[in-house]
Amino acid sequence: MSKYVRYKNAENEIKWGLVGNDGNFLEIEGDMFTQYNITDKIVEADNVQILPPSEPTKIVCMGLNYSDHAAEMGFAIPEEPVIFIKPATTIIGHGGKIVIPQQSSQVEFEAELAIVIKNEINDIDEDEVMDNILGFTCFNDVTARDLQKKDGQWTRAKSFNTFGPVGPFVRKNIDPDNLDIRLLLNGEVKQNSNTSKFIFKTKKIVSFISSVMTLYRGDIISTGTPAGISALKKGDVVEVEIEGIGKLTNFVE
Ligand code: MG
Repeated sequence: MSKYVRYKNAENEIKWGLVGNDGNFLEIEGDMFTQYNITDKIVEADNVQILPPSEPTKIVCMGLNYSDHAAEMGFAIPEEPVIFIKPATTIIGHGGKIVIPQQSSQVEFEAELAIVIKNEINDIDEDEVMDNILGFTCFNDVTARDLQKKDGQWTRAKSFNTFGPVGPFVRKNIDPDNLDIRLLLNGEVKQNSNTSKFIFKTKKIVSFISSVMTLYRGDIISTGTPAGISALKKGDVVEVEIEGIGKLTNFVE
């Protein structure tokens, strides 16, 4: 199925695995970003710690990339991509805890499809984009909505530690511009859309961002959220589910 996972085993080694239909993994030897072999060693998912797919230098996010979300935020549809950065310190993995900061009383989820960059790239054309992507994963662009409105720009609202849940799986060989995407809050569907509703498509997003800044291997680009955002509270279970990729589950405390 071309679905991969990064994990830490009982010996504290960081490895990649190919995800099988039974949910267990086949261990991978080598470097997932360059040359690797899939071995026949079976790794049981319950015996390892799932890690975020990469250790990015930065997470570059698209704002307002679904027309329905732009409308609910009261913004016009942008004429060129709107981008912002979350620091790498926001990252947590599958099963990690989102911590609501004292400074905010309105922390919201945003289900998003994320791109994991494979190679160092700068100013590439749209037709070079797919060869420079490792794969696609689930991301939750957690946002302190009250601070986003109060501050007039987004850095504080987007940057608290734990505000970047990502993973657990990286999917290759899939059309990123036509995937069902859902957010479940305590099992209830809150966002339900499809990436075919992107205002800017994957190739345009990556090419555009690379025209602004160099992207390094492992950097993450998140593609924006559809309509349906709402607040999180302590004790919630929040899940981002994307067709063909899987489900990212996190807990709120
Ligand atoms: Mg977002």
